[in-house]
Amino acid sequence: MVAGAPAAGQQSPRRKLVVGNWKMNGDGASNAALLAALKAAPGGEAEVSVCVPAPYLHDVSKALHGSSIHWGAQDCSSHESGAFTGEVSAAMLAEFGCCHVIVGHSERRAMHGESDRLVAEKAAAALAHGLVPIVCVGETLAERDGGKTEAVVGRQLGAAVDLLAKRIDGIVVAYEPVWAIGTGKTASPAEAQSVHAFLRKLLADAGAASRTLRILYGGSVKADNATQLFAEADIDGGLIGGASLKAADFIAICQAAG
Ligand code: PEP
Repeated sequence: MVAGAPAAGQQSPRRKLVVGNWKMNGDGASNAALLAALKAAPGGEAEVSVCVPAPYLHDVSKALHGSSIHWGAQDCSSHESGAFTGEVSAAMLAEFGCCHVIVGHSERRAMHGESDRLVAEKAAAALAHGLVPIVCVGETLAERDGGKTEAVVGRQLGAAVDLLAKRIDGIVVAYEPVWAIGTGKTASPAEAQSVHAFLRKLLADAGAASRTLRILYGGSVKADNATQLFAEADIDGGLIGGASLKAADFIAICQAAG
């Protein structure tokens, strides 16, 4: 993918953004092959990034250096440094040239008990070190069926709005309905657009630069549904899990974004 993307930490006004979330997958050889294929693909208008397991950041930064593809991590500590065994700080991620860091992914909220407040603190730590936090929000199936989607995502994003205040303009939001992650079930473009519009209004009401702040959709995005999702007015790209591990699929999704 061709060079010309903005420097780490900068955000273009509503330029589409496609981020791969590799989760806990990959090894040295498969990562190298995947990145070689991404680099060789023709670039488009969309900004592209891959969020990789922390032990691979060194290799990934070397492989992507000089390309237009950004890289990042899947979590960071809310703390600066100290006795936090197993944690990785935002400062460490910045040293590896990370542009993005995912915070508050539903897997971390569910499996590691991360609260809305902790997620907001992680976003603050990322911003303090020049990283763009991708703040994930999303409802479970029971919450959707109970008519609570807006209340849940509003509460989750509201914690970041409250803590970050003016700094909220530096984040990317990812709406990822929990019931659509890794399940093959995707929110319809209209369902996703409705939540994205709600989130953008919430940001506007809080005084954020809501017209420029990007809101990604995540949850079983594939090459064959990406075009329709990305065509919605408030969907500014995608956070891609499973399909980001297959070069042809991820490239097709990036191309669907422009
Ligand atoms: C994710 O985990 O962020 C995700 C969107 O996964 P998938 O695309 O596999 O549903």
